[in-house]
Amino acid sequence: MVDTVPKGSREDAKRAIDAAYEAFQGWSSTPASERAKLLFKAAQIVRDNQKELAQCDTMEQGKPIPESMGEIARFSELCEYYAGIATQARGITQNIAQNIYCDVVKQPVGVVGGITPWNFPVSLFAFKLAPALAAGNTFVLKPASTTPLTDLKIVDLMGKVGIPKGVVNVVTGPGSVVGQEFLDNSKVRKIAFTGETGTGKHIMEACARSVKRVTLELGGSDPMIVCNDVDVDLAVKGAISGRFRNCGQICIAMKRLIIFKDVYEVFTRKMTEAVQRIKVGNGLVAGTTMGPLNNEAQRETIEDQVKDAREHGAKAMSGGARPVGREFEKGYFYLPTLLTDVPADSKVATEETFGPVLPMFCVPDLDEALRVANSTQYGLGSSIWTTNLTTARVAAERLEAGTVWINSPPLLRVEIPFGGFKQSGLGKELGTEGLEAYLETKAIYADVSGKSKPWW
Ligand code: NDP
Repeated sequence: MVDTVPKGSREDAKRAIDAAYEAFQGWSSTPASERAKLLFKAAQIVRDNQKELAQCDTMEQGKPIPESMGEIARFSELCEYYAGIATQARGITQNIAQNIYCDVVKQPVGVVGGITPWNFPVSLFAFKLAPALAAGNTFVLKPASTTPLTDLKIVDLMGKVGIPKGVVNVVTGPGSVVGQEFLDNSKVRKIAFTGETGTGKHIMEACARSVKRVTLELGGSDPMIVCNDVDVDLAVKGAISGRFRNCGQICIAMKRLIIFKDVYEVFTRKMTEAVQRIKVGNGLVAGTTMGPLNNEAQRETIEDQVKDAREHGAKAMSGGARPVGREFEKGYFYLPTLLTDVPADSKVATEETFGPVLPMFCVPDLDEALRVANSTQYGLGSSIWTTNLTTARVAAERLEAGTVWINSPPLLRVEIPFGGFKQSGLGKELGTEGLEAYLETKAIYADVSGKSKPWW
């Protein structure tokens, strides 16, 4: 344990929502250019404190320092991007008939409740906060219970650059209490959630009662298809960073490796060698390339999934256990694990594996690869590795996922929309779509003809 924070109640959540509600009038009528200036300042103050914030992120979340530095930088990039397009959110005026006009205008939704997970506590907060504020909404955050500290420091810094009181609020406490108040409170007009698919379904159901807007970024089981004509070394490098960064706790990590038969042997041999070079350890120590899992429950889930795969005939080519040694006594460490001979009905094939475990499947051709790739309830990301452009394009069309990477490990850009197909989510974050998600569209008709004629 790194530190403790208050266990907020529903009353605490109500007070924060009231504060955001009170602040909405002033913030939404502040010119977009002024809101943008404050977001630029927020980006800068976070950048000025990057090292201290990254240290805190590593201590509470577990990822190695270079990854935490990247995560803090993402926060600033997101604030800057949305500050840059804050003044672009505009509607149109349309001439319906002579002397009859309609203004189609964009307005902020209102109070937004952000609910975030523990794997990227800072960047996933910014995915929601930056466009919401740029569009003129006020915000209440419920961070994950195991990772609230860095966000609390950031919200504190935002107060120092002049963002008015009540515009950004944070309430720590259990999701089933604080989060539930966000879902039930009629002053909250939108929920922006990232987390498990099961929690997302509960949120969607609860929001249906008051028709709250929702953006849901949920779980994934991203397939990586490796074709016969692949550059093996490049694909191995991609699979290592695509699966084991942040100890595998990334929604768009490559969670199933689907390999063509002719390269299966060479690919699995090189993957095994590469996995054994991963340096597992304390994220604060230089040279560590993979830290521990974030919490005990997560490690138990991973252990249960590996046990189930083995009981059904899978073999561990590498890992499959906790590392041994004094340096691993504190922290929820698990070795990077490669599984072969994995049955299609085992948990690692059908569920999301949110940890350093990579099941490998052997397929004869592209049709079978795509069938396996599309066989889960998820549809977040996917990748195809081939030197044949036609194969890449055909696969990209047929993969049931919100993002396809061709010969690339998962890559997100702030200006490109991101979101899942199927049970991986609803709506988009990032890009101009990410701003649009925090705006309502209103039509204002004006009849200046003086005839007041009913029409349709
Ligand atoms: P959870 O769904 O368990 O929790 C996410 C957040 O929801 C936490 O803040 C949690 O609070 C809160 N919460 C839990 N129950 C409720 C409830 N009844 N009402 C309101 N809020 C609630 O996800 P994890 O934190 O375990 O994160 C891992 C999951 O997130 C993985 O499935 C992963 O794929 C997904 N994810 C998806 C991404 C995407 O963009 N698609 C990106 C990153 C992760 P508390 O911590 O107090 O329980």
